Amino acid sequence: MTQELIETLPALRLGRPLVVAIDGPSGSGKSSVSKEVARRLNLAYLDTGAMYRALTWYCLDRGTDLADATAVELAAEELPLDISTSPHSEFVRVGGADVTDAIREPGISSAVSAVATTLGARTELIRRQRALIEKHNRRMVVEGRDITTVVVPGAQVRMLLTASEEARLRRRGIQLGGTQSAEQLAAQVTQRDAKDSTVVNFTQAADGVVTLDSSDLDFEETVVAALRIVTKVINHE
Ligand code: C5P
Repeated sequence: MTQELIETLPALRLGRPLVVAIDGPSGSGKSSVSKEVARRLNLAYLDTGAMYRALTWYCLDRGTDLADATAVELAAEELPLDISTSPHSEFVRVGGADVTDAIREPGISSAVSAVATTLGARTELIRRQRALIEKHNRRMVVEGRDITTVVVPGAQVRMLLTASEEARLRRRGIQLGGTQSAEQLAAQVTQRDAKDSTVVNFTQAADGVVTLDSSDLDFEETVVAALRIVTKVINHE
């Protein structure tokens, strides 16, 4: 099924840019779907949420006051970040420390919005994201909250991956191994999205952005639907 889909992409635009920008709220399945799409299309992959999480970890580790915008911006500029851009290996390192697992802890999830709503820090992380996309000759799946609208509004493919609140809470709960109470989950999903929405809009598709609602789709169905969107957009260029 997928192979057939991929064969309809004219040589996957080899040698030409193919940025697939995917935005969506937490628990929409964005990361796992984006990573799988990158694997199947043989593209690089960037999880921009991991960059905001890494910056949050760095600020907390060195005692930066998250309410001090100037200090957070400075921390963003100094952040010694090394992040995987391959969909086959996942790692995030800050100054040599492997923080791949630490940045997924609930303590980071509840603090990350404070960092992500600091505009100066966003400017710096967006600059780094664009540099990584260029480094990969603009052949990359990039996922986050503002990729289709701010980071690469000129991406060849732009999609918004959504899911009902119920589906998102359920998925995040499973992802966290059933260790969270309903209140903790709501804090990490619904309340975090509400805070994040104050600086980026990822609930409604901007002009030219295709919405993919995964509420009633399983993982494989969502990946195939995303690949169909890529095929359709590329074939209609
Ligand atoms: O995708 P993930 O849940 O790992 O993102 C963590 C946080 O990073 C989000 O809650 C949001 O505050 C921030 N973020 C952002 N812009 C992006 C990606 C993530 O503000 N492009």
